Amino acid sequence: MRKPFIAGNWKMNTNGQAAVSLASELAEAVKEIDTVDIAVCPPFVYLHDTARALSSSNISLGAQNVYYQPDGAFTGETSCEMLKDVGCQYVIIGHSERRHVMGETDDLINKKVAVAISSGLLPILCVGELLEQREAGQTDAVVTEQVKKGLAGLSEEKVLAVTIAYEPVWAIGTGKTATSQQAQEVHRMIRKLLAEMYSDSVAAQIHIQYGGSAKPDNTAELMSCPDVDGLLVGGASLKVKDFAGMIVTTAKL
Ligand code: PEP
Repeated sequence: MRKPFIAGNWKMNTNGQAAVSLASELAEAVKEIDTVDIAVCPPFVYLHDTARALSSSNISLGAQNVYYQPDGAFTGETSCEMLKDVGCQYVIIGHSERRHVMGETDDLINKKVAVAISSGLLPILCVGELLEQREAGQTDAVVTEQVKKGLAGLSEEKVLAVTIAYEPVWAIGTGKTATSQQAQEVHRMIRKLLAEMYSDSVAAQIHIQYGGSAKPDNTAELMSCPDVDGLLVGGASLKVKDFAGMIVTTAKL
């Protein structure tokens, strides 16, 4: 069975003090939970301090982005080795804000996923359709293309390091959550696609998180869907009570 995996994406929020408090308070609030894998992804500049606040906790550290080159003249970028050096285990790749605000392409995202895995990081590959694509009935086609291109060239062994986060763009930060039925339909479709691309065994092992205005109120319903294996949480992960509540709710299911 897939162990639920809940990750918090702090985006460009917090400051040094707030990041450390958030991490320490969360660590205290979920210290008894061992049936859910938990990660938080702070802004780069607070990774180091957050790692210290989480040391000897059951919460892993993740980054929100990475660059695929190992070092060199890439001003403003951060390598996989640098992320590992500050204690990251996970890295979010291809978040919709990076795709649609920063213009990242599937090709770039694929390079990042491949290099992250080779470096020993666990990528969380984000996919998801825009509102107009959903309304035009293109959800499956868009998500299929993003999954295929994002995972291109990865062996069966390597792909097992990946978590896929299905995040309908129209639900991110908007307060509009996909219904559990809408989430389950796309998650099921992604799992079938993984079975076609790899094998039934790989498809059964890969975690598929839902992201998009997930909050305490809708956690139980989303997490009860058979193909929803976890959540990628933005806004609600900035509030200890909400995020810890979502983790505890999941642990009780
Ligand atoms: C996200 O940042 O990946 C996200 C899902 O944000 P929110 O939960 O705020 O919609």
